[in-house]
Amino acid sequence: MAKNIVLIGGGPAATAAVEAIMEAGCRDPVVLVSDEAGPVNCRCLLSRVVSGEMAVGEMGWRPESFYRDMGVEAIWEERAVRIDPRARRVELAGGQWLEYRALLLATGASPVRPAVPGAELPGIHTLRTGADAMAIGRAADTAREAVVVGGGLVGLEAAEAFASRGVAVTVVEAREHLMPEQLDARAGEMLAASLKALGVEVRCGAAVASFVPGAGGRGLAVELAGGGSLTAGLVVLATGVRPVIELAAGAGAEIRQGVIVDEHMQTSLSDVYAAGDVAEVYDPVLEKNVVPGTWNVAVAQGRVAGRNMAGVPASYRPCLTAMHAGQIAGLAFAVVGQANVPEEGAFEVHTMYRAEPPVYRRLVLKDGRLVGALLVGDVSRAGVYQAYVARKYRVSAGDRDDLLHGRAVLPLSLPLISGDLRKGVHNRCLNVL
Ligand SMILES: Cc1cc2nc3c(=O)[nH]c(=O)nc-3n(C[C@H](O)[C@H](O)[C@H](O)COP(=O)(O)OP(=O)(O)OC[C@H]3O[C@@H](n4cnc5c(N)ncnc54)[C@H](O)[C@@H]3O)c2cc1C
Repeated sequence: MAKNIVLIGGGPAATAAVEAIMEAGCRDPVVLVSDEAGPVNCRCLLSRVVSGEMAVGEMGWRPESFYRDMGVEAIWEERAVRIDPRARRVELAGGQWLEYRALLLATGASPVRPAVPGAELPGIHTLRTGADAMAIGRAADTAREAVVVGGGLVGLEAAEAFASRGVAVTVVEAREHLMPEQLDARAGEMLAASLKALGVEVRCGAAVASFVPGAGGRGLAVELAGGGSLTAGLVVLATGVRPVIELAAGAGAEIRQGVIVDEHMQTSLSDVYAAGDVAEVYDPVLEKNVVPGTWNVAVAQGRVAGRNMAGVPASYRPCLTAMHAGQIAGLAFAVVGQANVPEEGAFEVHTMYRAEPPVYRRLVLKDGRLVGALLVGDVSRAGVYQAYVARKYRVSAGDRDDLLHGRAVLPLSLPLISGDLRKGVHNRCLNVL
């Protein structure tokens, strides 16, 4: 039987797996196949390439020599196109077959283009890779107006980057407020106000009907469903991502939203593992299956998969996958657990708001326990909220009041969850280890 360990994908999940394999002392040959041009970049910094603050070459998560130093054979700009799980081999687009004794699918996620006419026109971009960010940055060199479709984190970071370059930018969000997956209406409005202060136009409740070439063939017109249109020198589609499941599906792995894995990150196929944005795991705090889609989760899962592939048993036991933090237009926010559920059924919601300087907290309790917290403007004790949610700690009326007014301290019996939070590092890279 082949001794090779094969990793598909070159993002943080695969990179963390390489480190874990080496740390475990495994000396089997490791081959990594990635369709990108080289080692992983910190995707969370891509908007800084768009703004011109950073070059892609400065965003490396590991040094250029990482794979060489690790003794890994890295095959760049090559796609894996098929897995034959019975013969235990992977076919590459160039026709080569790689045999494996253990295989990791770390194929990540890819941007979703909305199903509207013209979404593939030139001048319409998505933002996932260093190459995407450079292409958008180049287009912004000559564009006077940009439209960002989608008011989630990636779209808002792009909009902020355009504003910083003096490009007039409009964010079009189909739902009623910004970041509707993570934030409630008030928090979304606070974010919109901060962006507007930077000169960003925000259009919520506005769906795109189509994209058409602009008058005289210059630029684009973004036609809105409710009537009216926006002119744009470039468009960024930030309308979500979906796990890249095709390889796993073709091989017959169990798939729902993502590739289903057990606590060892093993798929339903023998010796085939999955980690990162492609994998669907059970979150015991949320009590449901999730595809977390965050960097730190990809790293943690990649490490577990790597150890198991190296023959050292390891389990992934997420304490809370739903933890997002960032800063848009100078406004910091943290979203912990089920922060955005409506007040209905067993959910009890408590809020506090202060206009100047803007601070908003939303607590969600269920059966006397904190199950979610939304912090805007002041995220200084986010780790305390995270620990309460992750440990399902019972909240007294006094605790609740302290949590609501930002006075909460960590009960001695509750350890902090994240080292980064302990250090009080709060920026858009908060989730990056
Ligand atoms: C603009 C932006 C900002 C972000 N900001 C944050 C943030 O602030 N905090 C946070 O936690 N997360 C953030 N994320 C998300 C984070 O980057 C992802 O969760 C993380 O990259 C997932 O890692 P991964 O290894 O699973 O997949 P990826 O990083 O997507 O890597 C997968 C790789 O596999 C390659 N691949 C796919 N199929 C094949 C194939 N068949 N053959 C060969 N190669 C293949 C892909 O091209 C890709 O290079 C951000 C993402 C973006 C795009």
